[in-house]
Amino acid sequence: MTVITTEFKMTINGLLVTTKQKVPVINPANEKIISHVPKATKEHLNTAVKAAKESFQKWCELSENERQAKLEAFADALHQHREEIAELFTLEMGRPYHLALIEVDGSVATCRALSKMRLKAEILDEKEDHVVERYYSPLGVAGLIIPWNFPVSIAIRKITSALMTGNTVVVKPSPYTPLTMLRIGEIASNLFPPGVLNVVTGENELGEWMTNHPDIDKISFTGSSATGKKVMQGAAANLKRITLELGGNDAAIVMEDAVPKELVEPIFWAAFRNTAQVCIATKRLYVHENIYDEFLSELIEFAKKIKIGDGFNSETQLGPIQNKMQFEKVKELIEETKKSGAKIAFEGEIEDRPGYFVPITIIDNPPEDSRVVVEEAFGPVLPVIKYSNYDEAVEKANNTHYGLAGSVWGKDLKLARSIADRLHTGTVWINEAQVLFPHVSFGGHKESGLGLENGLDGLREYTNSKTIMMKKI
Ligand code: NAD
Repeated sequence: MTVITTEFKMTINGLLVTTKQKVPVINPANEKIISHVPKATKEHLNTAVKAAKESFQKWCELSENERQAKLEAFADALHQHREEIAELFTLEMGRPYHLALIEVDGSVATCRALSKMRLKAEILDEKEDHVVERYYSPLGVAGLIIPWNFPVSIAIRKITSALMTGNTVVVKPSPYTPLTMLRIGEIASNLFPPGVLNVVTGENELGEWMTNHPDIDKISFTGSSATGKKVMQGAAANLKRITLELGGNDAAIVMEDAVPKELVEPIFWAAFRNTAQVCIATKRLYVHENIYDEFLSELIEFAKKIKIGDGFNSETQLGPIQNKMQFEKVKELIEETKKSGAKIAFEGEIEDRPGYFVPITIIDNPPEDSRVVVEEAFGPVLPVIKYSNYDEAVEKANNTHYGLAGSVWGKDLKLARSIADRLHTGTVWINEAQVLFPHVSFGGHKESGLGLENGLDGLREYTNSKTIMMKKI
C-alpha cells in the first residue's frame, strides 16, 4: 500500500467526526504526505470527555464478565483487520511490515490476556459483628496519551486495562502516527456503547489540554521524561491519578565468561530493534575488558549483514527513524560524537534516497561523560564501553537519572543474578532483553516513570482502593 484514499475520522461518542483543520501524516520511508487527519479543537475534546463521563456509570456497572466479552469482541475485530492495521503501521511508522504484524498480533493477545484478569475484593478483617472489605473502584474518565514508537501495542494495553476496570477512555495517539489508532477507533465504534472509547487527534497541545482537563480523572502517559514532567505538573490541577512510562538509558553488562559469538545476535537486537526507537533498548553496552575486542569485532560483523530500507520491502530488517525531528537529533548526535574525537568502530551504509534513514553506528569505548553515553539516543547509535571489574560496571550502569531496565549476559548465573540485584531499574533481564508479558508488571525507577503497566498492578493503576466497613446490628 502506498497511497491512502480513505478519510480518517475521530471517534467521539460512537460517531465518526472530522474537523476543518487537519494535520499531515508523513511516510518516514519516503518523506511523502500520506494522509491528513483531524485536528481536534478544545470543543472536540470537551465533547469526547463529556461523552466518556456520561457513559461511565453504565459501563462501570456492567459485570466484569460483560466488560470482558466486549473486549474479546474488540480483540476479534482487531484480529480480523490485522493486515490492514499492520499496513497502516508500516506506512506511518516505518517498521518492516512482518514486524508490524507481530505487534498487532501481540496486541490482540494482550487484550485477551488483560481482560481475563480480575482485581479481587479482599476481606481485611472479619469478626462476628463487624466486617472490613476492600474493593477496587474505577476512577472515571481516563486520558491515554500514546507515543509514536509503538503506536498499537501501547494503546491497546492502556485501553484494555482502563476499560476492563470500568473506566471510559479518551485516547490520543502521537501526531506522527495517528492512522492506526484512528482506524482502530472506527473499527471499535460499534463494539462499545457510545462514549466508552473515544479517539481524538491533533498536535501536542491536545495532550496538554487533556492533562489540564477538569473532567479527566486519570492520565496514562507513555513518552519522553521531559513531557512526562509536564504531564505531572498539569495533572496537579485536579489531582489526577497518573501513570508515566518514560524514557530509558538501559545498560547491558556482558560478563567476562560470555561467549561473544553466541551473544552478539540477541544483544544486537536488544540495541537496534525498531531502529533503536524503543524505551527499553540497550543504549549503553558494557563489555568486560578481557573479551571486549572479540565482542566488538563479532558485533560489527553481525551489523554489516543488516538490511535497512522501506518496511514494505520483504528483505528489510530495520526501517527509518520515524520522524524528521528525531532524525535530525540522531544525526546531530552522531556528528558531535565524531567531532569529539570518539572512535567510530562501525558506520553502516545506507542507500542515497529520500526517507529518514540513519546508518547503524557503533562507537568504540567513548568517555562516560560523552553525550552518546549520557543521553537517550533513540536511534541506531550504540556506545560500547570497556570495564574491568563488576563494581565498576554496576556503578557506571547506575550512573544515570533513568531507571527503566537493564540486562546482564554471561554463563555464571549466580554472578549475573548478584549484578541484577544491584541495578537500579524496574526490570533486569539475564541473557535476554525486551521480554514483556501481559501478566508481568512493568515500570521505571527514577526519571523513567511512575506507576506500573501490565498485570494486576497495571489494572490497579486505573482504580481507587475503596474500603467498606460494616457493623452487623
Ligand atoms: P513525546 O513525549 O514527545 O510524546 C508522547 C506523547 O505525548 C505524544 O502523543 C505527544 O503528542 C504527547 N505530548 C506532547 N507534548 C505534550 C504535553 N505537553 N502534554 C501532554 N502530552 C503531550 O514522546 P515520543 O517522542 O512520542 O516518544 C519517545 C519517548 O517515549 C522516548 O523517550 C521513549 O523512551 C519513551 N517511551 C517510553 C516507553 C515506556 O514504556 N517507558 C515506551 C515507549 C516510549
